[in-house]
Amino acid sequence: MVVANYITDIFKGSLSLLKGMKVTWSAMISRQHTFQWPREMAPIAPAFRGHIKLVAAPKTGFPKCFACMTCSRNCPSKCITIKGQKPPGKKKKAPLVFRLDFTKCSLCGLCVESCPVGALEFSREYSLAAFDKDNFSAMDLTSGLKSPFQET
Ligand code: SF4
Ligand code: SF4
Repeated sequence: MVVANYITDIFKGSLSLLKGMKVTWSAMISRQHTFQWPREMAPIAPAFRGHIKLVAAPKTGFPKCFACMTCSRNCPSKCITIKGQKPPGKKKKAPLVFRLDFTKCSLCGLCVESCPVGALEFSREYSLAAFDKDNFSAMDLTSGLKSPFQET
């Protein structure tokens, strides 16, 4: 009787081990769902909204924005600050200052929708991090774009 119980236990244990290994093996050959972040970026949903950013005109590389203030006026959180000025020799204004207080932005999209020339869009930035929220209270959206005020 003792021997029979012993054999039954071995059989049940082996069956349980095989069931567990089946899960492990199927996970080993199934599609990978994790990414080696930050070396590898995960695909982002098309509707993802990062902070807003200025769009550059393809021909010139300057911001398409002509400082009409529509986005700033329509922003319900009042988090866009713009100072427009005419660059030397130009007829249209350009943003000398274009700052975003991202600590107040709700990503509602009203600024992007209301811009008459499509000069704003959402960035794909999803990994912003800092120890102090002041790092995001005056983001300079003109940085990284060519400036018509520094044209030589
Ligand atoms: S997304 Fe909304 S809250 Fe954010 S800057 Fe634009 S209008 Fe303001
Ligand atoms: S609405 Fe468009 S063009 Fe007008 S200030 Fe805003 S970003 Fe610039």
